[in-house]
Amino acid sequence: MTTLSGHLTEAQAQRLIEELLDPATDAGVAGHASSCLECQALVESFRLLDDALGRLQVPELPSDFTARVMTRIDEVERAAGRERRWAVGLAAAVVLVAGLGLVAAGASGLGHAVSSLSELLDPLGRSLRLGLSVLPGLLSALRLPLLLVTTALSLPLFYGLSRLMPAARTESI
Ligand SMILES: [Zn+2]
Repeated sequence: MTTLSGHLTEAQAQRLIEELLDPATDAGVAGHASSCLECQALVESFRLLDDALGRLQVPELPSDFTARVMTRIDEVERAAGRERRWAVGLAAAVVLVAGLGLVAAGASGLGHAVSSLSELLDPLGRSLRLGLSVLPGLLSALRLPLLLVTTALSLPLFYGLSRLMPAARTESI
């Protein structure tokens, strides 16, 4: 059997007002509480809190509360899913355009390489060199339009990605 040493703990005060003292662990609690002003104040504060909690009116939830919450959660998740699919589609389009741009730039580099090779195989590559010599100039002329198209396609992507960033939402159910 444990005897009380010092003042009551909050758990002992709680058990005292609920009349749930354990003789094995709470020996001397009631006696100490009746003679100690500090512990009487603690027990009284717990009693007042217990009374106040007992008088609290718990508001009745609407019968369809759970269904409404689940519906709202579904709506929010569907909207988020749409935004994700939209952003992924946009990202794929931008990657495709960027890939085409890289291929075009690669073709330009390839044009130079084939041009060098054709110098080695001069007679055979003369006509090929003539055709490929036009390609770098053409791609160079298209550089600005490619840049503008890529930029124009990137802006919606960045907008879409910014919409996916978590933000503080104050939506009510
Ligand atoms: Zn005490």
